[in-house]
Amino acid sequence: MSARLIDGKKIAEEIENELKAKVSKMDTPPKLSVIQVGDDPASTSYIKAKSNAAKRVGIELTHHHLSTDTTESDLCSLIGRLNSSVDGIIVQLPLPKGLESALNEIEPENDVDGFHPVNLGRLVQGKSGMKPCTPAGIVELLYRSGNDPKEKKVVIVGRSTIVGKPLSLILSQKGVDATVTLCHSRTPNIQSFCKEADILVVAVGSPDTITGAMVKPGVIVIDVGVNRTDSGLVGDVSSDVKEIAGQLTPVPGGVGPMTVAMLMSNTVDSASKN
Ligand code: NAP
Repeated sequence: MSARLIDGKKIAEEIENELKAKVSKMDTPPKLSVIQVGDDPASTSYIKAKSNAAKRVGIELTHHHLSTDTTESDLCSLIGRLNSSVDGIIVQLPLPKGLESALNEIEPENDVDGFHPVNLGRLVQGKSGMKPCTPAGIVELLYRSGNDPKEKKVVIVGRSTIVGKPLSLILSQKGVDATVTLCHSRTPNIQSFCKEADILVVAVGSPDTITGAMVKPGVIVIDVGVNRTDSGLVGDVSSDVKEIAGQLTPVPGGVGPMTVAMLMSNTVDSASKN
């Protein structure tokens, strides 16, 4: 039997509608600034998706599009000016080399991407703070699709700072109470870990990393990967996983819309504190 698809697009719409209702009660709309340096086509399409979501929710989004010859000092001074006038700032990644440290100029309260070391530190300590959007979106997706991770064995494949590592922290927090295994490219016999998972999250960035033979029947699979191929966008798991898994997120339409919804949620939260 084929796995049930977890509809991230529909769940993201539910979240956006809740946010829209909150925003409608605010005196002024939340303000989000998106900074793009250069013309990376993937960045342009992600910004378009964020801009459309902001419109639906009632967030005022301003796109600051800078040229590739922008210096670190230009970027820092723009962030410095925005820090005191908006509720959220994101710098679209990837940045040209040499500009990355400007990210730390974003005030932690405005860091709606949740990448600032202060926010990551709060996450490690189990304190409240902005959570990175993709991991927060995955956890929300699990709850809202009726898959409470409490007492479940969760295996995450991929240990990046924006997905795998923070997700392992959120899921293993007190109150969430999953038991987490974090795998990566140096994990020997990765199949033995994947086979044990009740919930398997794959964030690698390479198609067909996980095949049907590597998973347990009935497993819940969250496919984070976004890979552009000749046949369109695909995730990190093979199509045969659908025949073995109990539930699966589609690509596109799974984790992607949830990431955007969490960005909107962080922005509305920040505005309601300001
Ligand atoms: P990343 O920074 O490149 O990290 C990839 C991780 O995968 C690394 O930890 C790497 O291990 C591990 N890995 C690579 N090959 C592996 C293999 N064969 N077996 C096991 N582990 C392997 O990637 P990322 O930024 O986390 O993104 C991962 C994917 O998710 C990409 O396709 C990206 O586009 C997508 N993504 C989607 C969203 C969304 O909203 N839908 C958001 C963020 C990312 P090492 O650490 O050992 O190198």
